[in-house]
Amino acid sequence: MTPPHTPVDRLLRTGPVPAEAVVDEFRELALPLAEQLTGKGFRDQWEALAGLGVLRLDPPEHTAREEGAPGPVTRSLAMIEGIGLAGVDPGVVYALASQVFGMQYPLRAVLPRDAWHSLAPLTDGRVLLCHALTERKGGSDPLSMDTRARRDGNGDGDGYVLDGAKTFITAAPVADLALVFARTDENRSPFALSAFLFPVDTPGVTRADAFAKTALPGVPMGELAFTGVRLSADRRIGAEGSGLAILASTTTWERALLLGYALGPMRRTLARVTEWAAGREHFGRRMGASHQVAARLSDMALALHRSRTLLYGMAARLDAGTPTRRLSAEAALTKISVSEDYVRLTGHATALSGVRAFIADSELPADLHSPMAALTYAGPNDLLRVGVAREFGLPVEN
Ligand SMILES: Cc1cc2nc3c(=O)[nH]c(=O)nc-3n(C[C@H](O)[C@H](O)[C@H](O)COP(=O)(O)OP(=O)(O)OC[C@H]3O[C@@H](n4cnc5c(N)ncnc54)[C@H](O)[C@@H]3O)c2cc1C
Repeated sequence: MTPPHTPVDRLLRTGPVPAEAVVDEFRELALPLAEQLTGKGFRDQWEALAGLGVLRLDPPEHTAREEGAPGPVTRSLAMIEGIGLAGVDPGVVYALASQVFGMQYPLRAVLPRDAWHSLAPLTDGRVLLCHALTERKGGSDPLSMDTRARRDGNGDGDGYVLDGAKTFITAAPVADLALVFARTDENRSPFALSAFLFPVDTPGVTRADAFAKTALPGVPMGELAFTGVRLSADRRIGAEGSGLAILASTTTWERALLLGYALGPMRRTLARVTEWAAGREHFGRRMGASHQVAARLSDMALALHRSRTLLYGMAARLDAGTPTRRLSAEAALTKISVSEDYVRLTGHATALSGVRAFIADSELPADLHSPMAALTYAGPNDLLRVGVAREFGLPVEN
């Protein structure tokens, strides 16, 4: 039986979110899976959750026609929130959000129709994508990348030979297709990079073992090395030199919505800690009778409310067709705010849980690494702040 809504859920449902029914629907659909999938491999979990339709960008036709139906992006966000709320491993939900928002939506916008349709198996989970940008030397400065795609002089002259390596890539150990950014020009110019999409089993591509990651351990992370990888020109996305523009689009989508994956875990944490504070006897009274405890819980609710409002606001802007180039500052601000609120909320929960926060099989274990990692991926917050200030016209560079 589906657990009833907690008081926290009821409070949040007063927000301006047109997608509550979708959140509820996917929470209910994912609840049995969350239990069945515990301990299963990443790929099994991925396919089972994809089977619910989370990777489908367009809603079923009958749903799309309903009056007041949320737009596709809002619906995707609500599906992600719902499965997170059901208690599915946050690493898997993160990976789903990363593929949907950071890859599928931006690729659909840029690929020719036929090429996009050939990627249909993405939507049912049979094919898995990874987004390969970061290199060992660093991730924040794409123009310093070493991975190079040179025009292939030996072939038909139209293709490329790719050499280099991408590291710290989510899902690289299990992905079928990689979206890879490489240098096609030696200059440090906005047109120096190009984007390529190709199968990870292309000759010359090797995968290193997965890293033992402390944040989001439910999704593997790894490295892809490229040695003389021959790519035909149709593996390039967009024009040669348009890689930075494509990257700007994938990262804006990511910054706008990837942290939608955190809404479910944030809501679950707040509900769990509220219940604990309401029931625990302490100093001859219930713990929740303390104003300090109550204030921490209210601050957690504030962090969640703010995050939800910002994320659904971004989804609405994208549903309205706002071009990503006009959303870069808003997306960066959303990413900064939600990631820092996720850390803040988890910090309060950890404080209120006492020692139980550090006992793996207690009723209140804390995961501090995963929220902290959100300060780094999709652009470190320190650097995003610099970028936002630059958009105000400040003469500030990274
Ligand atoms: C969970 C997780 C998943 C990831 N998945 C992917 C993926 O799928 N694909 C991918 O390509 N990458 C991925 N990454 C890598 C991520 O994109 C990079 O970590 C990120 O771009 C930052 O690069 P870096 O770690 O090299 O940090 P750096 O660039 O070294 O920056 C680290 C810190 O140094 C400081 N700093 C550095 N330079 C400046 C400056 N000029 N001004 C102010 N402060 C500065 C900031 O505090 C910054 O946070 C993932 C990372 C994590 C944690």
